[in-house]
Amino acid sequence: MNRCAPLPTALPALLLAGLIAWPLPVLADRAHQHGAARLDIAQDGRQLTIELEAPLDDLLGFERAPRTDVERRSVDKMLAVLRAGAGLFRIDAAARCTLAGAELASAALKLGPPATQAADAHADLNASWRFDCTGGAPAHVDVGLFEAFQRMGRIEVQVATPKSQRKATLVRPATRVLLPR
Ligand SMILES: [Zn+2]
Repeated sequence: MNRCAPLPTALPALLLAGLIAWPLPVLADRAHQHGAARLDIAQDGRQLTIELEAPLDDLLGFERAPRTDVERRSVDKMLAVLRAGAGLFRIDAAARCTLAGAELASAALKLGPPATQAADAHADLNASWRFDCTGGAPAHVDVGLFEAFQRMGRIEVQVATPKSQRKATLVRPATRVLLPR
């Protein structure tokens, strides 16, 4: 199992000095671990937001900018799968959710805002999807990440709804996350 701490040593001092606004609780339990991804699912009213943080290795098999045409094609294919969203998350049909937007960020791939994490041998990708649900609160979401990305084996899931918050772990080949409502 490959681990690394993505924080540069100077960052805590900057945080203490108030120079960088950063969601500390997220940072505190953040660990880059190959094979394991994090997924935050939040539902409130008609909005369903899903955020993914995954090692690039899980999605691509490498953690740097592509160097060959084959690698560039792998990156393009991965980004297309993530942007489409629909195949990755099969949401309770009764809730009639439609994808309203998707954003991707990965410093190694020069996607999204400039990097704030240390330059080391590892790299992550962050993705977020917004769904608009006109049929009410969904009872469950089936996560298709294991089907799409063979290297991913475990997903630590956090769910937040107006009713409650809970944590769950999806281990391949499980897909279903229940949303309390
Ligand atoms: Zn890595």
